[in-house]
Amino acid sequence: MKLGFIGLGNMGAPMARNLLKAEHELIVFDVIQSNVDALVQAGEGRASAANTPAAILQAGVQAVVTMLPAAQHVKSVYLGGNVKDVVLIDSSTIDPMSAREVAKAAAEKGALMLDAPVSGGTGGAEAGTLTFMVGGDEGLFNRTKPLFQSMGKNIVYCGGSGNGQVAKVANNMLLGISMIGTAEAMALGVSLGMDAKVLAGIINTSSGRCWSSDTYNPYPGVLENVPASRGYIGGFGSDLMLKDLGLATEAAKLSRQPVPLGSLAQQIYQTFSLQGNGGLDFSAIIKLFTKS
Ligand code: NAD
Repeated sequence: MKLGFIGLGNMGAPMARNLLKAEHELIVFDVIQSNVDALVQAGEGRASAANTPAAILQAGVQAVVTMLPAAQHVKSVYLGGNVKDVVLIDSSTIDPMSAREVAKAAAEKGALMLDAPVSGGTGGAEAGTLTFMVGGDEGLFNRTKPLFQSMGKNIVYCGGSGNGQVAKVANNMLLGISMIGTAEAMALGVSLGMDAKVLAGIINTSSGRCWSSDTYNPYPGVLENVPASRGYIGGFGSDLMLKDLGLATEAAKLSRQPVPLGSLAQQIYQTFSLQGNGGLDFSAIIKLFTKS
């Protein structure tokens, strides 16, 4: 297929490379020229650059994938452009209401849109093993599934427009809460005299077990190959977690749904970010509960 790809950052660049591996032809755009140049080079003749997002929409592409920082960027690409007859796939993490607003505006201009946020991080983007949570028309989802399969492994239909983003924010809110809870419990146990590995072993075979404790434990040295064991470098940045908690709490506010623990988690990550830790992996939140 002839495809557009807009937003070639940490996630978008490897996703676009996987589309190239699947033999698609790409026309790409990013506000950072070096990101565009790298992708065009990786395309070995099958990727070309456009000067604006609008130029991609005009170039006869069948579908466009966006992987942008936030809702305002997604709106700036799609709301202004001539999207008629183009399938629009937004994989950025944005709030469900904005996703529905953009999809509605696109439909009015004759385009179908899917919201398709991902989980799996940059490692999953590189390996082509992302999970896609997809909202929008089910027939369109079925027709575009092969595209998602070029970039991911678990492709899940979540229901109508915006529901992909709903799944994403609900999951990530729980992840933020469970990471803080795990950090608190690990720090308490160690301060009271337990060995961190023994404590994690007990939790992981008991009712406190969760992904944050058994796969991504925040206490240094409990697990190898996690950010906690390499100074919290790499992984999923605390500022990205803060962003997702903000999306969850804003969506909750608009729907008058109480999320007391989500709100507290958002405030805790906000404090952590203010202290200059936004670039550290989100499991570094344990620093709030341990002596450094
Ligand atoms: P990033 O900042 O590395 O990449 C975003 C890219 O978009 C950059 O290259 C930037 O130059 C470009 N950009 C910004 N505004 C633009 C515009 N108006 N037009 C064209 N390009 C523009 O971010 P990322 O880590 O790739 O994340 C992208 C999205 O994926 C975010 O919504 C994020 O929340 C989500 N996400 C990230 C991860 C992760 O682990 N990094 C995991 C899951 C989801």
